Amino acid sequence: MPFTDPSTVPLPQLFDLSGRGYVVTGAGQGIGAAVAARLVESGAMVLVVDHNTERAAEVAERLGPLALPHVADVTDSAAVDAAFAQARTALPQVSGLVNNVGIFPSAALVDLTDDEWDHVVDTGLRSAFLCSRAAAQAMVGTGSGVIVHIGSTESLRGLPRLSHYVAAKHALIGLTHALAVELGPDGIRTITVAPGLIETESTAPFPRVSDPDERAPFERTLPAGRIGQPDDVARVVLVALSDLAAYLTGVVIPVDGGELAGQVRLPESART
Ligand code: NDP
Repeated sequence: MPFTDPSTVPLPQLFDLSGRGYVVTGAGQGIGAAVAARLVESGAMVLVVDHNTERAAEVAERLGPLALPHVADVTDSAAVDAAFAQARTALPQVSGLVNNVGIFPSAALVDLTDDEWDHVVDTGLRSAFLCSRAAAQAMVGTGSGVIVHIGSTESLRGLPRLSHYVAAKHALIGLTHALAVELGPDGIRTITVAPGLIETESTAPFPRVSDPDERAPFERTLPAGRIGQPDDVARVVLVALSDLAAYLTGVVIPVDGGELAGQVRLPESART
């Protein structure tokens, strides 16, 4: 089935996601919570999935009746199926999925244990497989749907002491390509949104975020001139999920303030 062609749809309607339903994983804080907030603002219903009960409840309560909390470990197949069972009954329809869960503990390859590797890869990649499968089961046959993976600039380059994370994030691009061609004929789009360093609860302790002596020099290397905020990513995810991006699939969109454009070092004078 060809993708919808919204060329004649007025712009405000393209942002209006009323009557649609989305599942966002790891939505108890950070980028996932920001995505859920923008979806609700656009009129969509959202299943706020997190393994932290209090955080899922707090986000859902803050966002109001269009947000429903669901507690699940999205590396667990049965738990994912239960989450989508709730999505299929509680949401108006399953219109899309945001695979946002991911963890990035630092470890040198020579010290990395089997369990540490499995934990990071399961969290970042197995969860995306399990949730994409469940979402596709709900969306195939409806003629539309969108799956967004939250990758990383580490989907596109290496960093030391993060081999498990870098491998899992690169694999999301493979999944994006594979699902774009497999699910495209069903009208389903698949996109990876790849953030650079974003200020969230998980990165708050990083010296580049918390230490002004490291943060300021790093920010001067970014064309954007500042570290990203969760909503910087959420707005792009919203576009990817909406019909504004009706012809977009199988691609990676970095949201990195220009970091990957060349690791530029702007002269000091450019910031004064
Ligand atoms: P956070 O860790 O701040 O939030 C993610 C949420 O998901 C937390 O509540 C976390 O709980 C929960 N979670 C973790 N594992 C599971 C699981 N198995 N099942 C259900 N919930 C789970 O993440 P960020 O907002 O910082 O990042 C979100 C995504 O963006 C990740 O994929 C990350 O790799 C990616 N990203 C982030 C960047 C950044 O700078 N922040 C940069 C590039 C990419 P708990 O805290 O208990 O683990």
